[in-house]
Amino acid sequence: MTKNFDVIIIGAGGVGSAAAYYLAKAKQRVLLLEQFNINHQKGSSYGYSRVIRYAYDNPIYVNLMRAAYPLWFALEKEAKETLYIKTGELDFGKLNTPSLHQVADSMQRENIDYEPLTATEINRRFPQFKIPETMEGLYQADTGILKASHCVLTHLKLAQNYGAIIQDNTPVININSKGELITLKTNKQTYTSQHLIIAAGSWTKQLLIPLGLNLPLTIMPCQLGFLKVDNPQQFIPGEIPIFLAHLVGEYGQFPYGIPSCDHQGLKLSTFYGWNTVETIDEVNYTPSLEWIETLRTFLKQYIPTANGELIETRRCLYTMTPDKHFIIDHHPNYENILIAAGF
Ligand SMILES: Cc1cc2nc3c(=O)[nH]c(=O)nc-3n(C[C@H](O)[C@H](O)[C@H](O)COP(=O)(O)OP(=O)(O)OC[C@H]3O[C@@H](n4cnc5c(N)ncnc54)[C@H](O)[C@@H]3O)c2cc1C
Repeated sequence: MTKNFDVIIIGAGGVGSAAAYYLAKAKQRVLLLEQFNINHQKGSSYGYSRVIRYAYDNPIYVNLMRAAYPLWFALEKEAKETLYIKTGELDFGKLNTPSLHQVADSMQRENIDYEPLTATEINRRFPQFKIPETMEGLYQADTGILKASHCVLTHLKLAQNYGAIIQDNTPVININSKGELITLKTNKQTYTSQHLIIAAGSWTKQLLIPLGLNLPLTIMPCQLGFLKVDNPQQFIPGEIPIFLAHLVGEYGQFPYGIPSCDHQGLKLSTFYGWNTVETIDEVNYTPSLEWIETLRTFLKQYIPTANGELIETRRCLYTMTPDKHFIIDHHPNYENILIAAGF
C-alpha cells in the first residue's frame, strides 16, 4: 500500500534532520528517508564538532548566524541537552591579508563585536601560539562548537516526538512528480507526498538529473585528524580558541583547529585546496597517511606543542557550488520540490 505524507525529506544529515524537526513541529505529516544507518560516516554531518561562528567574510552569513544562534539555544532548551560549547575564535594571518580584513569588515558592518590583536597580544593571551610580528589576528568570542552528530540525533529524536517517521537504510531510487503529487520509490516501498525536500548532500546532483536538473555541484572529500598535544589541559575549550590561519603553504590552504573535547585531541584540517570529484562513486574514503605530515610543518611553526601522535584520521565530504554559496531553492519545474544543497 502506498503511504501519503505532507512532506518527504531525503537525507538525515544536518540539513534533513533539522527540516524534519521544524516541519513535524509545525504539525506536518513528515517522512524522512535515509539511505544508510542514521549517523553514518559517509556524508558530511558525522562527528563530534562543527564550528558555529559570526566570523565570515560575507555579511550575509554573519546575519544568517544572528538567526541561527537563538535556534540552537532553543533546541538545547527543548531537548535538555548541551549542544553548543563556547570556545571563541582566533583568525590570524600575515599583516594586511585581504581575507582577514574581509572577515573584520563584515563583522563590523553587522555590529558584531571582535578584537583586533597584534602578534604579541595573541602570544600573551594564548601561549599555545608562536605568532611572528609579521602577523596579526582577530578574536571573536561567540564562536563555538556544535556537537554535530549529537545535533542530528537530537533533531531526529524531537521530530519523532512530534510524529515524524524516520526510516534509515531506505535509499530513494526514483522520484516522479505529476501535478501536485510526488511519488517516491525506495528499496522497500512506494510513498507519495505533496512536497519533497532533497537534502541529500553529495548525492544531490545524481538525484536531480532524472528530474531534468544538472546542478554544477562537485564533491570535495577533505581529511581531518585528531592529534595528541603536549599539555592536554592547554588545548581544551576555554583555554585555546578555535583557530583559522589565513595562510597558504606547503601544508595546504587555510589550516584550522578545534579544541580537544572529551580527550579526543586537537582536531585539525585545512579549509581549501582539496581535489574535487564529480560523482560520489569517485570518492576515495581511504585517508592519506602522508597528509598529517604536511600539516606538521604548520604546527611546528605556529603551535609547536600540538604536534603529537595522530590519534585518528578520516575523510569527510563537502558539496561545493562554483561560487561556494549554498543552494536553497525550488526545482525550476516543480514548485513542490525543494533543494537544499552545497553546504
Ligand atoms: C571536515 C569537515 C568540516 C566541516 N566543518 C564545518 C564547520 O565547522 N562548520 C560548518 O558549519 N560546517 C562545516 N562543515 C560542513 C557541514 O558539515 C556540511 O555543510 C553539512 O554537514 C551538510 O549536511 P547535509 O545534510 O547537506 O549533508 P549530509 O550530512 O551528507 O546528509 C545527506 C544525507 O542524504 C542521504 N542520502 C543521499 N541520497 C539519498 C537517497 N537517494 N535516499 C536516501 N538518503 C539519501 C545521505 O546518505 C546523507 O546521510 C564541514 C564539513 C566537513 C566535511
